[in-house]
Amino acid sequence: MSKKFYEGIEKKLEEMKVLGKYKEYQYLKSPMSNRAVIEKFNEVIILCSNNYLGFSDNREIVKAGQEALEKYGVGAASVRFICGTYDIHRKLEEKVAEFLHTEASLTYTSCWNANTAVIPVLVGDGDCIISDELNHASIIDGCRLANKKVQRFVYKHSDMSNLEQLLLDAKQFATKLVITDGVFSMEGDLAKLDEIVALCRKYDAVLLVDESHATGVMGKTGRGTIEHFGLLGQIDIITGTFGKALGGSGGGFVAAKKQVIDLCIQNSRPSLFSNSLPPVIAAMSLKAIEILDSQPELVNSLHLKTDYLRKKLNENGIFPLEGDSAIVPIIVGETSKAISMAKEIMKKNVYVTGFGYPVVPEGHARIRIQVSNALTYEDIDKCVAVIKEVYDQTK
Ligand code: PLP
Repeated sequence: MSKKFYEGIEKKLEEMKVLGKYKEYQYLKSPMSNRAVIEKFNEVIILCSNNYLGFSDNREIVKAGQEALEKYGVGAASVRFICGTYDIHRKLEEKVAEFLHTEASLTYTSCWNANTAVIPVLVGDGDCIISDELNHASIIDGCRLANKKVQRFVYKHSDMSNLEQLLLDAKQFATKLVITDGVFSMEGDLAKLDEIVALCRKYDAVLLVDESHATGVMGKTGRGTIEHFGLLGQIDIITGTFGKALGGSGGGFVAAKKQVIDLCIQNSRPSLFSNSLPPVIAAMSLKAIEILDSQPELVNSLHLKTDYLRKKLNENGIFPLEGDSAIVPIIVGETSKAISMAKEIMKKNVYVTGFGYPVVPEGHARIRIQVSNALTYEDIDKCVAVIKEVYDQTK
């Protein structure tokens, strides 16, 4: 074994520790909810999970999982086209398509997989991709995995005149694939989907929207940013996750017209070379969508709690980035400050995460709060008091 190689790794890790950028796992010992038990801290209030609707410990969903485990066993030990497709996959895929007003859908073991699967399938030689600069890392990697001859352009975050200029410059490409997050994960802001759709129509471009942080959160009935802008049925390709509002276990999907889904089945590498979504997760995700479908008031309840948290922060002199989603980022500046503030807040039994460079630009490090419908109003009051105390100490 090469001593030099391992010494190099040690040095990199040491540098991260010195710069305060070294991440440590916290070990959960209970289900994710408004509170959770974490090793060394006991019970903490959770302000940093994507468990937006509080479905992570929903009894009906857990029961659906238990039943599926009994019925289907652990899994098929196979990829979809060999012998890995269950009837529960078909049921879930039909439900996702119906829920999002598309013709069909295909599940993957994560939205990371879905993005890296579908993008290379959609474009080839003579085509181009035009992507928002703040799109999620899985979209960036999906673009990287596309054929080398695909031209890649990046537009300034939500800058519609920059997007239009790129579309104008891209006239010679056969397929122009525009890609955006619906809700941007670090800023919590929404894509200007109405304007993006209008531009795509004007320049005959195809649009892919990643709704991972939007499904279950945006739109009156939780159908995402697309519903928020009144665009259901009008988006070419939607990707999303079951790992956030829709249960939180994991898994993702592509929803689109039948021929797009068929091409993914035929050509996308994660579905050709990697195991299918475990049936237990398919059953739990299906149940999560059914619950959301029958109880759209959960979405409004989440919004009321988010508004309440924002109001309380403002009353205490803390002004996060504005936005309509359940992501509430408080900018604090340097990476090491965000990480040390998060640690102090955690010591007071409130779990938030500090994000710094390279996840966000240098100098824009932040504490990212994510509101869950599982939180009570008392939980939110307690969290704001703790954040205020630490915020004032580190001013
Ligand atoms: N897309 C976006 C916008 C995300 O925020 C995330 C997760 O953070 C993903 C994709 C990846 O989702 P998954 O955990 O299902 O791979």
